Amino acid sequence: MTAEIMTTAHPEWEKFIELLSGPEGLNGRKGKNGEHIDDCKGGLPIAAKILKEHFPNCGVEESLAFFRANGGYCDCEVMWNVALPRGPRKRKRKKTIKR
Ligand SMILES: [Zn+2]
Repeated sequence: MTAEIMTTAHPEWEKFIELLSGPEGLNGRKGKNGEHIDDCKGGLPIAAKILKEHFPNCGVEESLAFFRANGGYCDCEVMWNVALPRGPRKRKRKKTIKR
């Protein structure tokens, strides 16, 4: 049995990120002064939990290794450093070509 790896190329990557950012995961929200608050406590325990509970075919250690290799050393960094720069929602990025 070969374990799948949760990467940005995985067909369920978006679902994973939704769970990771949602109430079951980081529970990201705005604080009193509009600042961003989430439940990240360092490390990747939330990502690991979501992988185990929702993506049993994915190898947890392999997937966490992918996150770390891409700058995601804790749960919130997976959002900022791995998901946001690559996610399909950001594909509309404009390229300015200087001539
Ligand atoms: Zn964090």
